[in-house]
Amino acid sequence: MQYYNTILETIGSTPLVKLNKVSAGCKPLILAKVEAFNPGGSIKDRPSVQMIDEAEKQGLLAPGGTIIEPTSGNTGTGLAQLAAVRGYRCILVCPDKVAPEKINLLKAYGAEVVIVPTSVSASSHESYYSVANKLTLEIPGAFQPNQFVNPNNPKAHYLTTGPEIWKQTDGKITCLIAGMGTGGTISGTGQYLKEKNPAIKVIGVDPEGSIYSGDMAQPYKVEGIGEDYLPRTVNLKIIDEIIRVSDKESFAMGRRLSREEGILAGGSSGTATVAALRIAETMGKDDVIVILMPDGGRGYLSKMFSDDWMQSNGFLPAPGQTYYVKDLIERKMAGGRIPGIVSVQSEDAVQKAIELMEQYQIDQLPVIGSDGHNAGSINDIVAMQVVFERKDPSQLKVSSVMGRAFPQIAENEEIDRVYRAFRLGTPLVVITKDDKVTGVLTKYDIMSHMRESVGRTVAAGKGSPVAGVRK
Ligand code: PMP
Repeated sequence: MQYYNTILETIGSTPLVKLNKVSAGCKPLILAKVEAFNPGGSIKDRPSVQMIDEAEKQGLLAPGGTIIEPTSGNTGTGLAQLAAVRGYRCILVCPDKVAPEKINLLKAYGAEVVIVPTSVSASSHESYYSVANKLTLEIPGAFQPNQFVNPNNPKAHYLTTGPEIWKQTDGKITCLIAGMGTGGTISGTGQYLKEKNPAIKVIGVDPEGSIYSGDMAQPYKVEGIGEDYLPRTVNLKIIDEIIRVSDKESFAMGRRLSREEGILAGGSSGTATVAALRIAETMGKDDVIVILMPDGGRGYLSKMFSDDWMQSNGFLPAPGQTYYVKDLIERKMAGGRIPGIVSVQSEDAVQKAIELMEQYQIDQLPVIGSDGHNAGSINDIVAMQVVFERKDPSQLKVSSVMGRAFPQIAENEEIDRVYRAFRLGTPLVVITKDDKVTGVLTKYDIMSHMRESVGRTVAAGKGSPVAGVRK
């Protein structure tokens, strides 16, 4: 017979699954550790058991005792599940913004849920921290694990998550990617892996609006990661880098994971995957990247997996509002301010580049190869140098002085791609169809497009008026 004595014995030993489609074109092997396989549905089953086992050993929790924790998230589920198995009373304190499905989930495991107001400061006697502390003091035999300070939270990952990844990758992992809430996951797993091989890169992932990556604390939508203070459970010493990812990118990737990989994961798994793909660009084919995917997507069906919710939060364009690069190029041509492409051929003389830059008052141009592809770039500094060195620009070919090509984006891509390229610092983006250059876009093209589309939305009676909108 093959069976487990309780459901708690099935915690851990989660599978590593290769990503195939969202990672297309990446050199390293990218593997996801899918923590939704835990019986409570998340990685938080691991620290829940470790924190309670240790409390029992130390005599802080005894039969008939009560577990109390301020949490609405995955730790609540882990604790409620454990309390059911071991016969403890479990009281979870949740802010009133928590979705009814989550409250019902905790109640399904037999936990008692105390709801407190969301809109009070952490120091108020009504806050969920204060209420949990008060209940712990008042109820005899009560124990509060307190995942944000309890060393057994990171220890759970040092003892289980880290060794599993080391064994499953046969010691070949070169990079770990994990989101940071309490920081327990990354600190415990990262410490174990670095002890095995100090060369392993440990990369933290953080939402915009969280202090871990140095942002100003502000609201964001992705759940389970990011903080507005530094919890004691995070060990920054073992983290090599922290990558910041927007809600929009996290949710878009989360949705791709289910549609393209068949992995129904939560938003923070999307965040970690976005970061992994960015890191993958800097790594080679022998690298092995492991992404921790903390939970599954069923808890988010009415949020990130709902088109309505995505649209009303601005994470998906409203119907009929998707803009493709092609639309922008067409509009730019129609405006007639400047020809669609001011460029030179690689075989042209540098003289021609100088004349075009003067005529249109621009300081750089794309260079197009003889077969129409995006071959390189030339700027005013290079042209000036030619003149300064007393070379004859009418005799010198552009190909002999040109620099690296500008980033290239296909006409049928969404405009977001162009925006992201500018955010990474390029002054210009080259637009192509079938790998042949069809246009060029600058930041000003994007800005005037955005102004015009906001203008249309306002004119149609949607959205709020924006100062300076060109109608
Ligand atoms: N993602 C989700 C969905 C979570 O619930 C958590 C736990 N808060 C995390 C990521 C981060 O894990 P940790 O607290 O170990 O940093």
